[in-house]
Amino acid sequence: MKLTNEFSYPGTLKILALMMSATVLSACGSGESQNTQSAATDQSTTNQSNESAESNGDDSGSDPSDTSDEGDQVSNNPDETNTLPGWILSSEAESAAVMLDDSGQPAQVNVQAVSAIEQSGQGYTVVMASGMPDYQVVIDEAVLTSLSSRPRANSDFATGSPDVAIGDVVEFGQDIGYNSNTSCALDAGQGYWPPGPVCPEVMDKTGTFPNQPAQTSETCETGLGSVGFWVNGTSVYNWGDGQSYNNEGVWQTLAPVAEQYDVDVCGGHAAQGDYHHHYYSSCLADMVGDTGMGHSPIYGYAADGYAIYGPWEAQGQLAISSWEVRDYSASEATGCSDGARSCVLNDQYDVSQGTRTVSSGPGFSAVVRTLSNNELVAENGYYKEDFYWNTALTAQGGNYLDQYNGHSDSERGYHYHVTAREENGKLIPAFPYTVGDRFAGELQSNALTSCGGRLPGGPGRG
Ligand SMILES: [Zn+2]
Ligand SMILES: [Zn+2]
Repeated sequence: MKLTNEFSYPGTLKILALMMSATVLSACGSGESQNTQSAATDQSTTNQSNESAESNGDDSGSDPSDTSDEGDQVSNNPDETNTLPGWILSSEAESAAVMLDDSGQPAQVNVQAVSAIEQSGQGYTVVMASGMPDYQVVIDEAVLTSLSSRPRANSDFATGSPDVAIGDVVEFGQDIGYNSNTSCALDAGQGYWPPGPVCPEVMDKTGTFPNQPAQTSETCETGLGSVGFWVNGTSVYNWGDGQSYNNEGVWQTLAPVAEQYDVDVCGGHAAQGDYHHHYYSSCLADMVGDTGMGHSPIYGYAADGYAIYGPWEAQGQLAISSWEVRDYSASEATGCSDGARSCVLNDQYDVSQGTRTVSSGPGFSAVVRTLSNNELVAENGYYKEDFYWNTALTAQGGNYLDQYNGHSDSERGYHYHVTAREENGKLIPAFPYTVGDRFAGELQSNALTSCGGRLPGGPGRG
């Protein structure tokens, strides 16, 4: 296993954002079919959000704070008692250092507006964002090493190596020498993104989140596309990248693993123009001031309204995912008769439901090729089907999270965590990474996604 994407963390802790060997060209957004799909996707999202805001306005005209049906009238000074906290609002004067909008002007960054609306007696927070974070990364030895040691550095970079030096401050979208996807305009991110992903675009994003989330009794799986907003207005994506071994739909690849070479120095990339993180980002941690000295602050919100906190439960203590990799030994409840990837669990949430035979996945030491022509070892933990929810861990309480990757405390109520484990002073993303494979809370009709995801399935959608 080889570690990559190393980031510096405030203080002395070094954070490593990913693992294993080789690069994946973005399943998130390379390929011709995605361009044709993107317009429809973006439009449906925008329309859905706008319709929600408008109907909310019609339904509750008595609420003076409801100006959400006119984007330019939305209050930029939310009443904190009426909206969810933590959003990173940009002032009028703040704009991107590199990224430009459609009219060629510097893009607005972070969250443009947060407002309160009421619908059927429920309070909601409406967030409008460009999808452009104003990240800055200081290049230190660890970052430089991770860039220089990319297995395909010779072709990933125009000159064969990154065009940065230790001490440089890299702005979001700044050319650091990558041979970026041809979708990237020369003055809007070309050179900042590794070759796989399409470049992000300035979006007109709206997310509506219930202020009082409610636990759901239904099974509601997260899907491809946005499943929440980070507090800087970028998108939360789940574990998936829409890919599977031999495209058979079983042995589904995990974006944080398979796309580890398809993310920028902040651990993000775009699909259909939508910049997102599937997992912990040290740049986001910097932005919210998470120093790991106590329980992490809020990093974002899932579509069900529950907050997603950072990886720390307390000083020096990480919140711990209760999802574990299966023991494939024939003698184990999670195993297969041949000890290999020849069966899947009937229910990843209930090991007692047994297994069923499926077409075999690759061996644990097999090398698989990613969409970006990088080669990775398909070790246990490479596929979603390698995992199961260990109820015994959740039952221990404390830092162990539930099946949704959340837990409750008296101060924060129910909340999710970004999950990572620490290895040699580095943080490595831990499945399911953010909000679990399923939402803990109910998705309202105005939510930015629906159970199973807004987007149709298919390769390269994550
Ligand atoms: Zn917590
Ligand atoms: Zn992605």
